[in-house]
Order: sequence, then C-alpha cells, then structure tokens
Amino acid sequence: MPRLTQSDLKSLNQNFEERTPFELLQWAHQIFGERLAFLTAMQKTGTVISHMIKHLNLPVTVLFVDTGVNFQETLETRDRLISEYKLNVRTLHPELTMREQTEKHGILYLTPEGQATCCHTRKVEPLRKIAGEYDGFIGSLRRAEGGRRGKTPILSIDKEMNALRVNALANFSDEELEAYTEEHNVIVNPLHSQGFTTIGCNRCTTPVMPGEPPRAGRWRHLGPWSMYCGINPTDVSDTDQEYIELPQDVIDRVLGIENDFMI
Ligand code: SF4
Repeated sequence: MPRLTQSDLKSLNQNFEERTPFELLQWAHQIFGERLAFLTAMQKTGTVISHMIKHLNLPVTVLFVDTGVNFQETLETRDRLISEYKLNVRTLHPELTMREQTEKHGILYLTPEGQATCCHTRKVEPLRKIAGEYDGFIGSLRRAEGGRRGKTPILSIDKEMNALRVNALANFSDEELEAYTEEHNVIVNPLHSQGFTTIGCNRCTTPVMPGEPPRAGRWRHLGPWSMYCGINPTDVSDTDQEYIELPQDVIDRVLGIENDFMI
C-alpha cells in the first residue's frame, strides 16, 4: 500500500496556513468523503467545529469517547449536538465500566503510570478499535493552547489510526474562537463557565484559578508530568519517522493533484 509521511505534507501544510477553518473542513470532506470523521471531547473548540460542520451541511460523523466517567454536562452537550445541530454523533465506549476496571485493577488514575494505563484503556483503545473505518479525522487542537500544541501542524499523520488528522483550528486564536462562539451563539459545555478551561473525565479534571495555565486543571493531583491522555498523537510523540498507508488515489488527492479548489 502506498505510504504518506509527515514530510510529504510539508509544502501542503505551508500552503494551508492561509486557509480558513471552513475551507479546511470543506477540503477534508472533498478528499475523504464518508471516510472522514470528527473527534471531539465536547469542549468549546469541539462545539465550534460542530457548528461549522452544521453550517456547511457536511455529512461528517462526530466521534465521542464516553469514558464512563465524563461530566454530566459533557454528555448533555453531546446530546444537544444531536438534537439541535442534527449531527450524527457516534459514541465509543471502553470495554470495561469504571467499576469493573477498578475491581480488576484498583484506582488507576492515582499514579502517573496508572493514569497512562487508564487513559489508554478508556480513551485510546475505544478509538483504535475502529481503526480502518476512516482515512481522515478532523481534530480541534489549537496552537494557542501552548505546550506541545504550540507546534500543531494543520495536517498530521496518525500512525495508530492509519489516517490523516486535519487540525482545522490549528491557527485559530483565542479571540477568533470567542468571536465565533458569540457571533453564532454556539452550544458551549456549561463547565467552561464554571472555571474549567479544558474538560476531561470527572475524576481527573478541575477548574483552574485565575493566572494558572489553561491545562493546570488536568491531572492536577499528579503534577505536570501527565499533561495529555494520548488520544491525539501529536501531543505525545513526533511523527517525523512514521508513515500511514492509504490508497494511491487518496494520497494523490491529499497531495494536491486534485486539491486546487477554492471556496
Ligand atoms: S482522564 Fe483520568 S479517569 Fe479519564 S481515562 Fe484518563 S486517567 Fe482515567
């Protein structure tokens, strides 16, 4: 099967710096069609992209991993995307309930090693189970979030899912995010107005104090070594030496043989 590497995407990524999120979403749909999905944890960035998908009327499946210990507000936000935006939301689940996992392995999230196992089991594995069903995943990582995300490419390969990630909001600023949300009255997870700058499982996420870094509320009990769950590959590893395998016609479309389209 033909291979696609991160370096193959270099000039396309440079070119795409000028594209708007709407243009990137349309490009992704044009390239991948029904083999495109959008992965979201129901944070504000996710509901903004959901609104854009609705606005563009793109038939994109929205993927949500229900770890079994999400906040009720997060589940209600997902349900609003279904009822109000009429989006096709597909909820993925881990194999074990949290109760079953705890009976079997104890409370994993209390140590850095356990957190890595718990996040892998409850977030990464449910997604990996559907590897092969999609060639493209829209993501909502933004460089403005800082840390490793400060260098998020617009297009990045995802070796585990053998797919291309399209980070449509990579260069969307905080101001642009707020302006879009306000202008379009986007559905927003109510936890954001309760001091949660980012949102994960209820066991491992707290609000942040004024002046704290935005991700200070994630795994606060573990310290700064546990900053990401691993569901987004660019958060946890460099993809320079990796490749994905896609049909030649898909790679040709991605690399621009047919991508000179304008809105
Ligand atoms: S965020 Fe916490 S509870 Fe959720 S999967 Fe990771 S370690 Fe487990």
